[in-house]
Amino acid sequence: MPRSVHIIGAGLAGLATAVRLLEQGVRVSVYEATNQAGGRCRSYLDPVLGITIDNGNHLLLSGNRAALGYLDTIGARDRLIRPSTASFPFIDLATRERWTLRANNGRIPWWIFDRNRRVPGTRARDYLSILRLLRAAPGATIGDVLDCKGPLYDRLIGPLLLAALNTEPPESSASLAAAVMRETLVAGGRSYRPLFARDGLSAAFVEPALRFIEAKGGTVVFGQRLRAFACEADRVTALDFGEISVPLHPGDTIVLAVPPVVASSLVPGLSSPTEFRAIVNAHFRVKPPAGLPPITGIINGTAEWLFAFHDRLSVTISSADRLLDTPREELASRIWREVAAIAGIAGPLPPWQIVRERRATFAALPREDAKRPGPHTRWNNVLLAGDWTATGLPATIEGAIRSGKRAADLIGKMR
Ligand SMILES: Cc1cc2nc3c(=O)[nH]c(=O)nc-3n(C[C@H](O)[C@H](O)[C@H](O)COP(=O)(O)OP(=O)(O)OC[C@H]3O[C@@H](n4cnc5c(N)ncnc54)[C@H](O)[C@@H]3O)c2cc1C
Repeated sequence: MPRSVHIIGAGLAGLATAVRLLEQGVRVSVYEATNQAGGRCRSYLDPVLGITIDNGNHLLLSGNRAALGYLDTIGARDRLIRPSTASFPFIDLATRERWTLRANNGRIPWWIFDRNRRVPGTRARDYLSILRLLRAAPGATIGDVLDCKGPLYDRLIGPLLLAALNTEPPESSASLAAAVMRETLVAGGRSYRPLFARDGLSAAFVEPALRFIEAKGGTVVFGQRLRAFACEADRVTALDFGEISVPLHPGDTIVLAVPPVVASSLVPGLSSPTEFRAIVNAHFRVKPPAGLPPITGIINGTAEWLFAFHDRLSVTISSADRLLDTPREELASRIWREVAAIAGIAGPLPPWQIVRERRATFAALPREDAKRPGPHTRWNNVLLAGDWTATGLPATIEGAIRSGKRAADLIGKMR
């Protein structure tokens, strides 16, 4: 029976592992390299804007059941904006057309037969193409099974898959896309209501988890970067944090919930994804005009999704490697022109911030997906967690939380 579980990394995978284990009464210690928990899903006070922003706007869908279960456990589901229907306002900046996709709640998608609810320019039978994704052979790309053009692709499937996979859909893994579709679009409108953190990612996903861990007797230690494992035969015997070393007792278990590059440097011979894609976010300190929807999809723009928070407008651009070298000022002005047109705001560029996450997620390509390892390692007391492990999903909050839950449940079985 494990005496204690040592979790390396306080991103969502590490936090979800800790929360799940503490629910089962297991003793946990979490070690985080930085001074903040949340990893790639965190908020911070931005010195330029003088307000708290997220490192990236994160969208969940109501079919993300592990993420919602995690929020229930830590008492934070009410920190999400949760619309009562699956409704997605869109604007096409090339034609200035605006429409709102309004799905019905049930599994049978009768909304696709209603021209006022489906995507303009599409026919009901176009939507059947989504089923081809579900039957894709392993290793196939989306481009192998879908015609990646036409109104339905340009105005719905392409933008949704780009956001979910953070990789250009034609080259992305059809199985990862199918996994997302199965749990959301195909499961009916009840499963793809868009959800996002009202007061920031940390207030929803991180701070309540830290309070939960503390209340249950777990510990989280910040500023401790794991440098190496000491090992004997098939088990790790100590954790080397440089200045300190933590000896392990027989029966102690480790969950390594760090990014793939770090995990590969700590576990010799570990296979992991090596190609990544960037995400760019632009934040503008301006109050959203009354009536602007919480989230708007943008077609034919540099901006892809516009989020309206009470104190700012924020834009997300996925698979954004092409923008990494664009000067920040140029990017901010270009995106602001689009935002101002969508929101109907006149006036000069407000205070802004551009956040570029270079390695936001692993590239959701079939060859990268094939490199993702399961939870086990060469050592029998070290398990892996993280959005990049083989969860069957792309790199998302849902995948990260599921990976943590899986590691915790494997430990539960050892008891
Ligand atoms: C800009 C952006 C936008 C995104 N948008 C969405 C979205 O809309 N929807 C969605 O579902 N997902 C989105 N994602 C993906 C989501 O953020 C990730 O899938 C999730 O946060 C990954 O969690 P993780 O715990 O697996 O990894 P991480 O968050 O990377 O956590 C790893 C942790 O390990 C720590 N660490 C690293 N090395 C060490 C070490 N040696 N010792 C100790 N600790 C260490 C790190 O500091 C970090 O805290 C987005 C990501 C980004 C970057």
